[in-house]
Amino acid sequence: MGTLRFDGQVCVITGAGNGLGRCYAVYLAAHGAKVVVNDLGGDRRGEGPISSAAQRVVDEIVAAGGEAIANTNSVASVEGGAGIVADAINTWGRLDVVVNNAGVTPNGETIDQASRDEWNRVVDVHLHGSVNVLRAAWPYMRNAGYGRIVNVSSSSALGMPFVLTYGTAKAALVGLTRILAVEGEPSGIRVNAVMPTAATRMTDSDFAPVYESMYQLRPGEFAERFPPEAVAPGVALLCHESVPCSGETFALGGGRMARLFIGATQGVHAEDPADYLAEWAQVFSPDRFTVATDTWVNEAAHLGADRVTWRSSLEE
Ligand code: NAD
Repeated sequence: MGTLRFDGQVCVITGAGNGLGRCYAVYLAAHGAKVVVNDLGGDRRGEGPISSAAQRVVDEIVAAGGEAIANTNSVASVEGGAGIVADAINTWGRLDVVVNNAGVTPNGETIDQASRDEWNRVVDVHLHGSVNVLRAAWPYMRNAGYGRIVNVSSSSALGMPFVLTYGTAKAALVGLTRILAVEGEPSGIRVNAVMPTAATRMTDSDFAPVYESMYQLRPGEFAERFPPEAVAPGVALLCHESVPCSGETFALGGGRMARLFIGATQGVHAEDPADYLAEWAQVFSPDRFTVATDTWVNEAAHLGADRVTWRSSLEE
């Protein structure tokens, strides 16, 4: 058992009928939270017969002595997102935490192959789904002067093949997280993102074999080293009152938690493009950089290096 508690708090976890979302719901409920377990209940593409995935997780939580309700809305519609939040408010009268976890697996197509329908299918769940829930949740959190939000991104957003639609939507969630962190700051709302790595139905057939071959692991070792349960404590910290940051993105996998940040190099002022090339090391090298925590940190550097605090990657 962890030591951070959520007694009296109400949490919405989307896509919590399977995989990682189930682990977040079970963990938070075991640590005192009341949980809305949302899940549409389709297959890993978000299609096929609707199952009772959400209710199964609720039964598991209740059997362990916790409190939870099931919601089977799709996050992909505005009404679906609003209904999930309404269930929290109508049942318990408050909403403290939202984890935007619902997700569908992409087709693995490239830019010239992916149809508009495929873009819509993936973006509607990952990006618009998160927005649909947050639009409904935000007014309650703002009025309460308190909220914790975790958006589930993916390391695919950093660049890998065959994840075009998915990785693009997941990258957008990093932007959403950073901007909402700024919007939420005066209202006590903290917003962070995670890029998890875990063995689930989403990763078992495509990602795990690639991972095992890439890092010379035994067949089955990905599942052994990356159980979804090992991601839940890091997400729980980001859901907790004591989370020390907002607008940040964390890699979580196999029990490891690490910050991912966008850094800006020292840069060069020039007029001739050839001068940028001549000074390429200073344009490109992260030897001296600043962490671009928001727009203004980045913009200040255009005005002069003395406006920002540079770090050396060697000192980090
Ligand atoms: P999963 O398929 O086990 O879980 C996703 C859940 O979302 C499913 O239960 C599904 O029914 C639900 N869902 C899909 N569409 C929905 C909708 N429209 N409304 C409500 N629920 C819906 O996969 P997982 O690996 O547990 O993925 C959880 C999240 O983590 C996803 O957002 C995924 O993209 C992200 N992620 C996972 C990994 C990983 O290594 N497993 C890596 C990076 C990101």
